[in-house]
Amino acid sequence: MSTAVVLLTRDLRLHDNPALSAACRTAERVVPLYVLDPKLADLSPNRTRFLHQSLADMRDNLRKIGADLVIRHGDPVTETIRTARDTGATTITLAADVSAYARRRERRLQTECERHRIALELHPGLTVVAPGTLRPGGGGDCYKVFTPYYRSWSAARWRPEAATPKRITLPDGVTPGPLPAIPAATSPHTCEGGETAARRRLTTWSRHEIQGYADAHDDLAGDATSRLSPYLRWGCLSPLSLAGTARSTDAEAFARQLCWRDFYYQVARAHPKLSTEALRPGADTTWRHDDDALQHWKDGLTGVPIVDAGMRQLLDEGWMHNRARLITAAFLTKHLGIDWRPGAAWFFRWLLDGDVPNNSGNWQWTAGTGNDTRPYRRFNPIRQALRFDPEGVYVRRYVPELKGIDGAAVHQPWRLPAPERRGLDYPGPLESHRDEAVWLRD
Ligand code: FAD
Repeated sequence: MSTAVVLLTRDLRLHDNPALSAACRTAERVVPLYVLDPKLADLSPNRTRFLHQSLADMRDNLRKIGADLVIRHGDPVTETIRTARDTGATTITLAADVSAYARRRERRLQTECERHRIALELHPGLTVVAPGTLRPGGGGDCYKVFTPYYRSWSAARWRPEAATPKRITLPDGVTPGPLPAIPAATSPHTCEGGETAARRRLTTWSRHEIQGYADAHDDLAGDATSRLSPYLRWGCLSPLSLAGTARSTDAEAFARQLCWRDFYYQVARAHPKLSTEALRPGADTTWRHDDDALQHWKDGLTGVPIVDAGMRQLLDEGWMHNRARLITAAFLTKHLGIDWRPGAAWFFRWLLDGDVPNNSGNWQWTAGTGNDTRPYRRFNPIRQALRFDPEGVYVRRYVPELKGIDGAAVHQPWRLPAPERRGLDYPGPLESHRDEAVWLRD
């Protein structure tokens, strides 16, 4: 009787999971395996909680179809080979990934599989279009500019969705192993992980908001974006199915955002040092060192309300609206002149959706060291605030010290009459940026 192991990583779903589906197609017994890797354990308490919730949900869903989720701790290569040998598996399937760490893991697994005469199959599934399949006309291993990539992505033939397994049989004698405990998150208001929660969120959001996405996605107070990014990050949702839903409902603006995600995956695949080195040579030399300003930025205490609101949303929810991510990242790099790497590291620690391609790719874009065709563009935080939070609702939601200030006046508390300003328990702009003209010059 043939047996396959499917090593799950960030594809924690039953629907449209090509690695799982292929294992079920080719083998009579299948071991769905997740290995808790100690090297990845402490990157982000918020993400650890989300991951453990997703594993619990995956186990429930696998049990409903007769199988289980097998959990092991340790080095993923050692544990996967051990599981394959213990169960007599002749094939291991896995979703191909792009980060330097994931690719090293794939290479090591390949070597060990060869040594033990086990077939290793890599499958797509983490993106709509597999990274590396679309190549720019003039040569090069990835698209550097988004718009031509988007054209090519839109015209490409997408793979068909993989069948959802109806029944899975585990080999005899496999002990599933206990689920990891669900730890507290560091953010008090994180969303719940897992494919079931993902589908619930998708159903609610797509029923009411997907059609209005093009007009509403930048409205900070409206909070009308999908908030599906953590589910995409962990593969609780298939990006391909989601893009299919967007196309079938004529929501091209939403599909375009999913294309941004694919775009950064193919950049990350071609640039293994995306999180440490500037993509544009020479773009990266003149950063200012200012630990005090960096700390104020991290704590949401810069004295610029729209920046502080974004940073506090991050701490509170482990998630931040895209427009606020742009404003806060641009503030750090282009106004305070501080290196994008500590900023990206801070986001990476807190974000439920934090991953190398999207986090580092977007940080580099914002800092002007990456794929922006206008790397010197600046985001005036006050103008951004007045445009995308015209009534100040978003700021008041996350910065309670400013709750008493009505309307757009909340964006520039330093303009309030002196007696009102004195009553506020809120910092003035940072020492290095006291001169208000700085905001208006851009
Ligand atoms: P929606 O607006 O509903 O969009 C749907 C999906 O499209 C998102 O879930 C996401 O998967 C994708 N998407 C949307 N915008 C982008 C974008 N600019 N780049 C790549 N994919 C996009 N996204 C991450 O998933 N992980 C990160 O670590 C991350 N770090 C970021 C850091 C900075 C400095 C910036 C400016 C953006 C970052 N983003 C990151 C992109 C974007 O902000 C989030 O994907 C988006 O806010 C998630 O909210 P949503 O699911 O409601 O998005």
